[in-house]
Amino acid sequence: MGIAKADRKLMREINNMQVLQRIRAQEPISRPQLAEQTGLGLSTIGNIVTELLDNKLVREVGEGDSSGGRRPGLLKINESARYAFGVKIGAQQAWISLFDLCARQVEMVELSFQKEDAPAVVVGLIAARVEALRKAHRLTKRSILGLGISASGLIDPQTGACRYSPILGWSDAPIRAALEELLKLDVIVENDVNAFAYGILLQESAAATRNMVCITTGPGVGAGIILNRRLYRGSCGGAGEFGHMTIDRHGPLCTCGRRGCLEVLASDQFLMARAREIAATGGSTLLETMVDEQKLSPTTLYYAAQVGDEAARSLYRELGENLGCGVTDLINLFNPDKIVIGGEGAVAAKFFLEAVRDVVAKSVFPHLADQVEIVADDGSEDVWLQGAAMLIIERFFEVPLAAY
Ligand SMILES: [Zn+2]
Repeated sequence: MGIAKADRKLMREINNMQVLQRIRAQEPISRPQLAEQTGLGLSTIGNIVTELLDNKLVREVGEGDSSGGRRPGLLKINESARYAFGVKIGAQQAWISLFDLCARQVEMVELSFQKEDAPAVVVGLIAARVEALRKAHRLTKRSILGLGISASGLIDPQTGACRYSPILGWSDAPIRAALEELLKLDVIVENDVNAFAYGILLQESAAATRNMVCITTGPGVGAGIILNRRLYRGSCGGAGEFGHMTIDRHGPLCTCGRRGCLEVLASDQFLMARAREIAATGGSTLLETMVDEQKLSPTTLYYAAQVGDEAARSLYRELGENLGCGVTDLINLFNPDKIVIGGEGAVAAKFFLEAVRDVVAKSVFPHLADQVEIVADDGSEDVWLQGAAMLIIERFFEVPLAAY
């Protein structure tokens, strides 16, 4: 009898979850619509909705159409029922954002740290800001689903440790364990480009985008791969090391020890090295002045292109052609619906996006090239933070409610 009772309890949890997911996908929605769409009886729906209302996971709003009789109330997810944090750990900066259950950003704060700070110091700073934010909004720990963290490098999906990150200078940093210990909250750690790709995916309609590759350019080059609307991480979290794809095996030396990787040909490193070459050979007086005054940086180079410096603009086109070679390989490999270019370097996309598209149009089989859309993201932190927080929020909607 005990087993049968457990089965009934599980069935109820599954039904509750199914109804909650349906409300989330189609809110605002009425009880009769829920009964029709889930195949559950109207009285069962009534009981489930009462339970969800009692638990404050949904709320009733306005009234729907009705052909006579009492008008049914419409149901929505109660956005303030639970909250989650999204965190992005950058080279010397972290962004921490509080999101409600509908993934709307409530508040974002930034913090800075030194390059030489140990991972434990950075994690301690993040934990303190998370606590401060939680208290400022008068939220109980119970109302917090957890933290989704996006960090660069090779992230172990099992342990949430950063195995190796050249950008952060970390190796074997137990990010998840340290934050869980400090905050007593659930933590999921994801590679930053994967979190970015996940954030972009959630903005895309299911009909338009099933397979997508989100690539980033800036200090490094990376890729987050979405196959059938799921993140593809590979066997141990190492998929998407797009930056170390060989473009020219006689090319310049990469930090990984090999030659001609895409990262040395399509990142800030490439732009800075080529700008110095051009300045040294008298190709641009503006770039020459920037080098002489030690003011050359990705930001000032972008400025030079903005004010019409032809050498700076041609550099971005070169970067676009190199990136286009890598993108061509991705299209041949994955046949995606969409390629999104993001990361810090995407701010200059208007100077290199056409070159990427031109290389792809010339190199990919016509029917493959025609159906893939290549676009640039606006480069804001929001998508990264939302993608990280959604790792936690999506999990809440997947697990039977009793587990919470
Ligand atoms: Zn490399």
